[in-house]
Amino acid sequence: MIGNLVLDAPRIPTVPVRGGGAFPVRRIYCVGRNYTDHILEMGGDTREPPFFFQKPADAIVHDGGVVPYPSCTSDFQHEVELVLAIGREGSNIARADAAAHVWAASVGIDLTRRDVQIQARKSGRPWEIGKSFDHSAPCGDLVPINGQLPVRGAIELRVNGQLRQRGDLAQLIWACDEIVSQLSQQYRLVPGDLIYTGTPAGVGSVIPGDRVEASIEGIASMRIGIAVPPQ
Ligand code: MN
Repeated sequence: MIGNLVLDAPRIPTVPVRGGGAFPVRRIYCVGRNYTDHILEMGGDTREPPFFFQKPADAIVHDGGVVPYPSCTSDFQHEVELVLAIGREGSNIARADAAAHVWAASVGIDLTRRDVQIQARKSGRPWEIGKSFDHSAPCGDLVPINGQLPVRGAIELRVNGQLRQRGDLAQLIWACDEIVSQLSQQYRLVPGDLIYTGTPAGVGSVIPGDRVEASIEGIASMRIGIAVPPQ
């Protein structure tokens, strides 16, 4: 037991780093809409500025992990996304300084209870139950960016070997530097924060037994399995 804590402290969630070590996760931010073709498939307006939501840090699932099919949904969907990992603290970060605040990048999957998300949206309620739940944030091993934000590269997701999503980072409506800059106006970014930067078109459902592979050209790939829910 540490200090005067009345319970053992929860473990800090981490993401493995390629080459060794582990990145401690403080918060997970996600961009709601960032590829035109996905906004159109969801019936949205492509002229709106980006908005952000969060997932709990302990929703992280590592490469090779298993995601139990969640409760309260019958439409559990995948969204492949570029993930940025913050390594330097800052608020109101200028676009030109954004790269210096990003330590690493990877590929992640924004898992979504789509039916619940859409029902919440229709009812004018928060998205939270559709987006922020246990095991909802698979993230591949982090790769240090060495001062160079990703700007292009194929981003893909396959289910059981079949291509479901394919886009390119060059299609991001709000580029990495703009996302970091805008998010840092709303929250002080701190080392340990992850940012999921939005998904291209082709989102779809998965079921227990499915094998999901996600990749970003030149950065990382990851795979997860979908399992039957625990009793
Ligand atoms: Mn998403």
